Amino acid sequence: MSNARILIADDDSTVLQTMTWLLKEHGYEVDAIADGTSVLPAMVASPPDLVLLDVMLPDADGYQLLEQIKSDDRFRDIPVMMVSSMPPEEAAVRTLGLGAADFIRKPFRVKELLARMQSQLRMRAILLSASETLRKTEEQLSRVREEAENRRQLVDILHDVTDELSTDEMYHLLARRVARALDLTHCSVIVARDGDRPRVVATAFELAPSSDFVLDLDRYPEVREALRTGRNVLVEDVRTNPLYAQVREQWASDGMTVTTRSVIALPFALEPTQAGVFFLRRSVTEPPLTPEDVEFADTVIRAAVSANQRRKLLETTIADNRRLEVLAHTDPLTEVLNRRALTDRLSAEMDRGRRYESTVSLLLIDLDHFKRINDTHGHLVGDDVLMEIAELLQRAVRSVDVVARYGGEEFVIVLPETGLAGATAFAERTRELIESHEFNVASGQRVQLTTSIGVAIFPAPGVESVEDFFAAADQALYRAKAEGRNRVRS
Ligand code: GH3
Ligand code: MG
Ligand code: MG
Repeated sequence: MSNARILIADDDSTVLQTMTWLLKEHGYEVDAIADGTSVLPAMVASPPDLVLLDVMLPDADGYQLLEQIKSDDRFRDIPVMMVSSMPPEEAAVRTLGLGAADFIRKPFRVKELLARMQSQLRMRAILLSASETLRKTEEQLSRVREEAENRRQLVDILHDVTDELSTDEMYHLLARRVARALDLTHCSVIVARDGDRPRVVATAFELAPSSDFVLDLDRYPEVREALRTGRNVLVEDVRTNPLYAQVREQWASDGMTVTTRSVIALPFALEPTQAGVFFLRRSVTEPPLTPEDVEFADTVIRAAVSANQRRKLLETTIADNRRLEVLAHTDPLTEVLNRRALTDRLSAEMDRGRRYESTVSLLLIDLDHFKRINDTHGHLVGDDVLMEIAELLQRAVRSVDVVARYGGEEFVIVLPETGLAGATAFAERTRELIESHEFNVASGQRVQLTTSIGVAIFPAPGVESVEDFFAAADQALYRAKAEGRNRVRS
């Protein structure tokens, strides 16, 4: 460990001279001191890597000096080797207890002294590199913490912004949140539609003209630049930036005192015909905006705008899907469930019935001599009648019941958690309802109609599947027809 700096304090001038010479011969830099009071000032002036300290100095107590060194934050890590002619048993124990790195007895053997010094210097080097690593780790940790804090802020903002907001609401919220996160005096959103002059649509802090204020681009060169190039613009100081040269002349001729220091303009795309700019501003009394601020605002704004757009797209897609799904499940003429959807529902109700040991009833309703209606009044009247029947049935059932069109002039009603007696009674009421109903057809003619209804229940012997269930209801219906129509059979 040559080039290490050694401080020797010893009142014996012969020892001091010999040691100085010896250590210099071995490549060390040496600070030689003959009195105790100069030790600390010398250490402050040029911190040594190791101290050789005589226990007995004429003007100072070596033990006290050692204590002072070890209690000083600046020197605590510097190894101090105590040197003394006292018997080691006594001095060594005491000095080591006070924090000395080692104890050397005078007169010393040169080889031993050098070996012990080297060992101390090596340990110190290891200690220094370990504490440097620790410092770097701590630095890294605090950077990571800062980044995490930024990310947390970002997540918070995005969470707020994507929460069911309209685009306008998002702009207002975003302006406020970005302003708060970056300590801005002003943050606004400017939107320019093709051919139109740009307007301020949202603004945070600072009393600004009410929204929809038209912006004079000659006074906002950074906004113009951002719109023109599509790139982020940072003006750290409007008093020196060339972009502001003309504006500065204008300010001067208007006699204006300008309070703005820094501005950022971040362009973003909305729709193909619309462009927007987020406009951030700090005043002269505040620190200027930096590239890091641009990066933060850019990340937040871009993520927010795209999250908002994604959400809108998702909503449209979901709405479209829902419409398509409704269409896929509905009979176009009567708007009740179609046969496919009925099959799914009935299967689900049968599962529920199995699980909860409850009864499901099924009514198959067939209009009597419907062909005659068509023949007498025409097919369109027939259609009107079918629609009206569907409405009647729909109004007659509970919300848990299902009405569906099974085929041409056949309807089905599913009654969950309803036994045979309840289902038959309900079928009878339905039959009466239709029998007594006067249909309101376009031609103004009086149309009346009867129905035959087959009732089946599940669970029942031989009914395992949806098909079995339909077949059972169909057999009952067949009996109703066979026995003279306008009746309920089960
Ligand atoms: P039954 O008492 O035996 O049931 O006699 P029905 O005439 O009702 O039975 P059939 O099965 O012989 O005839 C059914 C008729 O229903 C024939 C068909 O033209 C008519 N129909 C089926 N779907 C529609 C529709 O969507 N609109 C109209 N207007 N008529 C339909
Ligand atoms: Mg029929
Ligand atoms: Mg019929």
